[in-house]
Amino acid sequence: MISVEEALKTILITFRPLGLEKINILDGRGRVIGEDILASRNIPSANNSAMDGYAVRHIDTKGAARDKPLKLKIIEDIPAGKVALKKINKGEAARIMTGAVIPEGADAVVRQEDTLKDGKTVIIYTSAKKADHIRFAGEDVRKSELVMKKGSALRPADIGMLAALGKAFVSAYQKPRVAIMSTGDELVDIEIDPPPGKIVNSNSYSLAAQVLECGAIPIMLGISKDKKSDLEETFKTAMHADLIISSGGVSVGDFDFVKNVMGEIGNAMHFWQVAMRPGKPLAFGAIEGVPLFGLPGNPVSAMVSFEQFVRPSLLKMQGYKNIFRQTIKAICAEDFQKQAGFKHFIRAVVKKGKNKYVVTTTGDQGSGILKSMVTANGLIVMGENETRIEKGTEVTVQLLDDSLYQSDSLQF
Ligand code: AMP
Ligand code: MG
Repeated sequence: MISVEEALKTILITFRPLGLEKINILDGRGRVIGEDILASRNIPSANNSAMDGYAVRHIDTKGAARDKPLKLKIIEDIPAGKVALKKINKGEAARIMTGAVIPEGADAVVRQEDTLKDGKTVIIYTSAKKADHIRFAGEDVRKSELVMKKGSALRPADIGMLAALGKAFVSAYQKPRVAIMSTGDELVDIEIDPPPGKIVNSNSYSLAAQVLECGAIPIMLGISKDKKSDLEETFKTAMHADLIISSGGVSVGDFDFVKNVMGEIGNAMHFWQVAMRPGKPLAFGAIEGVPLFGLPGNPVSAMVSFEQFVRPSLLKMQGYKNIFRQTIKAICAEDFQKQAGFKHFIRAVVKKGKNKYVVTTTGDQGSGILKSMVTANGLIVMGENETRIEKGTEVTVQLLDDSLYQSDSLQF
């Protein structure tokens, strides 16, 4: 049996980022880009008006005020999208809309609110300074500027920027294809009302959702019987995947064959059993070169070990730099005891108190109590050698929901 830290190290060194592919930026949210983005053009492309108003030579408005207005001749109307035909000369102005290109000769815009239109002339009530209300070419992005670095994950603003630069496609790390299978003679498919002795295969679904949450692609291989030949058959259908996840069949039971199969056809089992709870009987290896996580069958164990080991691996494969969940410090609102020897991940609910996060456990911590994961938004992490948490003391909580960390105003 190895520690969680050793297991993680062994696992992570086996994964590298996958290859790159060209993707449509509309599919890009959350994807990690595989190229530096250099601006192909200035944004904005030309000097333009930041206001609806009048393009003027600032010098022509010198001394203008509410009680001392002056008049300029309107020579043209420039709506957004149109380019001025005339140059602004002494004593002239052009009506201009926000975003329209500043006409030649003008060097300032007077806001509409500081003017009054009077037929073919405009009354100016304020003295403009040079460059007033002008947005300059390249003030947002300068041509050739580095706007995004290879390895950054795309957020909506980045996608808007790519669009502004005319980039409809971008190079990004591929999404891992993750084959998911569940093992167990007791399992039936979701559409079957389980007869006595049988249960619905829920793990394939929670794991598929976790895979999706990581941005990867689940491939459902269904249920395999607790029979070596059946397991081998199913594993063989997963050879096209980037990663295989199985659940169940890794304990010490008479029918727990996953690790044997891994050892025999895979001839590569890196380790079996990790000093953690839930999730001890985890097996990690490969089958014909495809990495395989043999997760425990208990629904909570499967999910928690996915969180600790599979999630960071999938994120690494997609080129992410931050591959771990956020952890926070929180005040534990109850006493908690455990035995030494295992690292514990205790299902918990974190709330934002006045100045601090406060955390309570979800109650029964049995590894079959899936409701403890349904209720939880975090996992209290208790080290191998720790044995008790005293009410009112600080603990480390791994957040399962990143929005809690991001949002300061979250109310419960
Ligand atoms: P195992 O690791 O195969 O001994 O399974 C441990 C426990 O988890 C047993 O109670 C199983 O019935 C349950 N279990 C195994 N696989 C699944 C699954 N796919 N969905 C729900 N429960 C499961
Ligand atoms: Mg089983």
